[in-house]
Amino acid sequence: MKLVQKLSQSKKSLFSIEILPPLKGKSIQSIYDGIDPLMEFKPAFVDVTYHREEYIYKKRDGGYLEKVSIRKRPGTVGICAAIMNKYNVEAVPHIICGGFTREETENALIDLHFLGIDNVLLLRGDSIKTEPAFVPEPNGHAYALDLVQQVKQMNTGVYMDHDMKDAAPTDFCIGIAAYPEKHFEAPNMISDLKYLKAKVDAGAEYIVTQMFFDNKKYFEFVDLCRKNGINVPIIPGLKILSNKKQITTLPKIFHIDIPQPFYEELEKCKDDKQIKEVGIKWCIEQSKELVKANVPCLHFYTMGASEATKAVAKEVF
Ligand code: FAD
Repeated sequence: MKLVQKLSQSKKSLFSIEILPPLKGKSIQSIYDGIDPLMEFKPAFVDVTYHREEYIYKKRDGGYLEKVSIRKRPGTVGICAAIMNKYNVEAVPHIICGGFTREETENALIDLHFLGIDNVLLLRGDSIKTEPAFVPEPNGHAYALDLVQQVKQMNTGVYMDHDMKDAAPTDFCIGIAAYPEKHFEAPNMISDLKYLKAKVDAGAEYIVTQMFFDNKKYFEFVDLCRKNGINVPIIPGLKILSNKKQITTLPKIFHIDIPQPFYEELEKCKDDKQIKEVGIKWCIEQSKELVKANVPCLHFYTMGASEATKAVAKEVF
C-alpha cells in the first residue's frame, strides 16, 4: 500500500522506523532482533537505508597499498523483501543517486516493482570520504530531483529507451528528505526550500525530515514549507541520543543542534547509562508534543537501538 494513502487514512500519528542493513558478513537475524520488539507498536513502514561503496587502502605483499572499493552494508533490497514477507509491513528502500548510472537506477527500480515494493525514499546521497563534494556517476543523477523525475517517468511507462513500446508503468509512491535545520550545503533556508519544492512539484508525495532535537525547529520548518507552497505530509525524524560520543558526533555528521537545556541535562550525566535515560526522556517529551500537534507519523532512526525506541514508543503510542 502506498504510504501517502496510509498517512491520509490515519486520524492519529503513526509510528515508523528506519533501520540499517547489517555489516557485510553479519546475519539478517540482527535485523529481525531489532524489529521484533517494535512490532507491537504496528509500524506503518520500515525504511531501509542504502550505503554506497567506500574506498579503503589494503596493505599488500611488499608493503604497497592497494585502493579497494567495498560496500560495508549491502542488502537493502533483499532486506526490504524479507521484512515484507516476514512481518507483512511496508518496507521502504532508500534509493540514492551516488554510485548509480541512470540505467542502473532503472534496473534497480524494476527489481523493486517486481518485488511488490510500492514506496521508495529518493535521496542524493553524500560524497564519498575521498571526495570533497558529491560527484555523480557519468550518466548518473546530480540531485535527488533528477531521481524523482526518473521514477515519475517510469510511473507513466516512460523508460530510458524511448523507443520501447507499451512499457509497463511502475506505481511508486515517492518520499524525499528535508532538513528543518537546513541542508549543510544550501546557502540558506530559502534556497533549500526552493529545491525541496521542485522535488514535490516533480512528484514527491511525502517528506521525511532529518533528525532534530528541538521541536520548535520542526514546527517553524513546516510553517515555512506551507508558506512556500509545499503541502505534502512532513514526517518528523527522531533520534534517541544514547551515549556521550553522540553529543558531538550527531551535530558533526548530521549538521544539527543539541538544544542548550537538553545539553545541560546531558552534561550532568556520569555515564552512558544516565545519558541514555536522559535521551529517552527528552525523546518522549518531543514525541508527546509532536503527537499533540497531530503530525502524520513519528519516524525513529533506530540505528540498532530498538530497546530505547521501545521505551519511547511505550509512553507515546
Ligand atoms: P538533494 O535534494 O539533491 O539536495 C542536496 C543539496 O543540493 C541541498 O543543499 C539542496 O538545497 C541542493 N539542491 C537540490 N537540487 C538542486 C539543484 N537542482 N541545483 C542546485 N542545488 C540543488 N544518505 C545515504 O547515502 N543513504 C541513505 O539511506 C540516506 N537516507 C537518508 C534519509 C533521510 C530521511 C535523510 C534526511 C537523509 C538521508 N541520507 C541518506 C543523507 C542524504 O543523502 C544527504 O543528506 C545528502 O547530502 C542530500 O540528499 P537529498 O536527497 O536531500 O539531496
